[in-house]
Amino acid sequence: MTARETRSTCPYCGVGCGVVIESDGARITGVRGDPEHPANFGRLCTKGSTLHLTAAAPVIRQARLLGPQRRAHRGATPQPVGWDAALDEAADRFADLIGRHGPDAVGFYVSGQLLTEDYYVFNKLAKGLIGTNNIDTNSRLCMSSAVAGYKQTLGADAPPACYDDVNHAELIFIAGANPAHAHPVLFRRIEDARRANPQLRLVVADPRRTETGAMADLHLPLLPGTDVALFHGLLHLLLWDGRIDHGYIERHTHGFEALKATVRDYTPREVARICGIDEAALVQAAQWFGASRATLSLYCQGLNQSTSGTAKNAALVNLHLATGQIGRPGAGPFSLTGQPNAMGGREVGGLANLLSAHRDQANPEHRAEVARLWGVPDVPATPGRTAVEMFEAAARGEIKALWIACTNPAQSLPDQRTVHRALERCEFVVVQEAFAGTATASYADLLLPATTWGEKDGTVTNSERRISRVRPAVPPPGQARHDWQVAVDFARRLEARLPRRRTDGATLFPYETPEAIWNEHRESTRGRDLDITGMSYAMLERAPQQWPLPEGASHGRARLYEDGRFPTPDGRARFADVKYAPVAEPRDARYPFSLTTGRLRDQWHGMSRTGMLGRLFGHVAEPAVELHARDMARLGLRDGDLVHVASRRGALVLPARTSGEVAPAQAWIPMHWGEEFLSGCSESGEPVYGVNALTTPACCPHSRQPELKHAAVRIAKA
Ligand code: SF4
Repeated sequence: MTARETRSTCPYCGVGCGVVIESDGARITGVRGDPEHPANFGRLCTKGSTLHLTAAAPVIRQARLLGPQRRAHRGATPQPVGWDAALDEAADRFADLIGRHGPDAVGFYVSGQLLTEDYYVFNKLAKGLIGTNNIDTNSRLCMSSAVAGYKQTLGADAPPACYDDVNHAELIFIAGANPAHAHPVLFRRIEDARRANPQLRLVVADPRRTETGAMADLHLPLLPGTDVALFHGLLHLLLWDGRIDHGYIERHTHGFEALKATVRDYTPREVARICGIDEAALVQAAQWFGASRATLSLYCQGLNQSTSGTAKNAALVNLHLATGQIGRPGAGPFSLTGQPNAMGGREVGGLANLLSAHRDQANPEHRAEVARLWGVPDVPATPGRTAVEMFEAAARGEIKALWIACTNPAQSLPDQRTVHRALERCEFVVVQEAFAGTATASYADLLLPATTWGEKDGTVTNSERRISRVRPAVPPPGQARHDWQVAVDFARRLEARLPRRRTDGATLFPYETPEAIWNEHRESTRGRDLDITGMSYAMLERAPQQWPLPEGASHGRARLYEDGRFPTPDGRARFADVKYAPVAEPRDARYPFSLTTGRLRDQWHGMSRTGMLGRLFGHVAEPAVELHARDMARLGLRDGDLVHVASRRGALVLPARTSGEVAPAQAWIPMHWGEEFLSGCSESGEPVYGVNALTTPACCPHSRQPELKHAAVRIAKA
């Protein structure tokens, strides 16, 4: 066969690097960075540069789900079934449960790894056709606090900065993020910028001294969960030093006086006590922040995965508003997305509390606008269940059917005991997946084979609001279908079984191509903050584009709020007068360690792809709990000794390892290993898998994002 090259996008992190896929038309044979893609200019990290190997690995090919399968009953071996029979059964079961118990008896749990087009159809299926807002996504575990923080302060879920700002900053402030491992190509850009400008300072606030922290001019090893106090402490010092931009505050914001009164109490001594850091280090950070003419803050899960997630995000944005460090080259708060398309999912409203084009489910006008766009009588007013709530409701028997697409909640959600109970109790579970052997697949009544990277066609949006094309290089294997196609085929069958929703009787799902779906989404953005009515697939064929790009514009906008106007009713940003609150589960005598979780450089999520390639274990070969040398000695441990790690919800046995990154009384476990490698039991003896056997389901009250970054645990030699 002839060699072919296909330009596409890496399916891993939110940097959104462009790739060139080499194939022979049937098999992917190589991958390299796309030199013309503005996210990476040809660079790829270890994960991206081995994509072709994971696609071609025999073990991955064996792990693929190649045809629909059905279980006659729970515990039975799944048997092959035709697509028509599978989707007819799914439509019959959903229609029956909706008819008997109402639309909120079903739920959809989808993924930030779906493409924007997939997301759009699932969202319309739930909210437009069935009439339930019970659709949420693993992006809830990733970005929902950033969404809530932006909306609370700036008025819209729109990251104001862009990657190029790294080259214009005088100070880069990284909080709760480890881009050296989680966003490697962006980190290379930071390293380049420091080489080009030795005056560029780097301050890192992180409980661990990660590779990113080790490279910083100043590392603030704050105690887990104390970020709000840190940011308020910095603002207190900036006020004291006269480093506040009163003109900017006067012209472009509201609410500074209330915040000023709040931060008065966050004296350096008090903040040093709460955060467990040196007072001098805090003062140094404030001096650098105040003296910098352009400060760029990069942040990720350390802020988001917290019961104070929204407050942490808002408190950091406060610092930028108070100093006028926003809307200028090199300046602004910039949330980094964990997943490849958490942004695209937010854009189409694919979360329980959102609607298309950054509209709010709780807003009656927004619901009416979306109902008009879709041609349905209404969009339901009842709030949907967010990720953790959805599985808790299923465990109580309130949600009776779950449709899970492209994600593995039986490993990735906190409090695994409840998740497993939920999946067992559900009357009908559909799992739509590329891979057959995930922990969640073992609960499926129906398993539907989906396409994956290298086969899919559509779009994704990266952290800097840049929409890129994802293109197929090879045909789907076996009977696998695209996620949007599966959702459309199911939705059309369900339409025939439920009372017609469209007033003109036409189908709500007339799509034959991903472009047709994207065009409908594009129209829904008209006049909104993310207006892309000037964008088209044809334009994206030429180059990826940032939003907004309204009709008539020739290119997207690199950074937002340059004119000081914000998408609020009066155009002014709002300071959030938030207070510091401790973690949900503080350490105590019974559980004396603070457990945090996170990513390794060379692995991705539940390892369904990266876990298949031996060379990606060269960096870290096996799961372990990392501890400070002092704690290792106190517990009588040597590297490799097995320990029993227990929280109030479950326990695991795994090796312990001394780490120079972890502070005393803290423990760190990577998030990747699950069922086959890291199993344990719940407090009541049920089997549970991976680090989320230990984590807490406690959520931020505003974003409903769970506190995956902190749980109290005890550790003892096994
Ligand atoms: Fe892929 Fe992220 Fe690596 Fe880029 S930095 S190659 S998007 S994993």
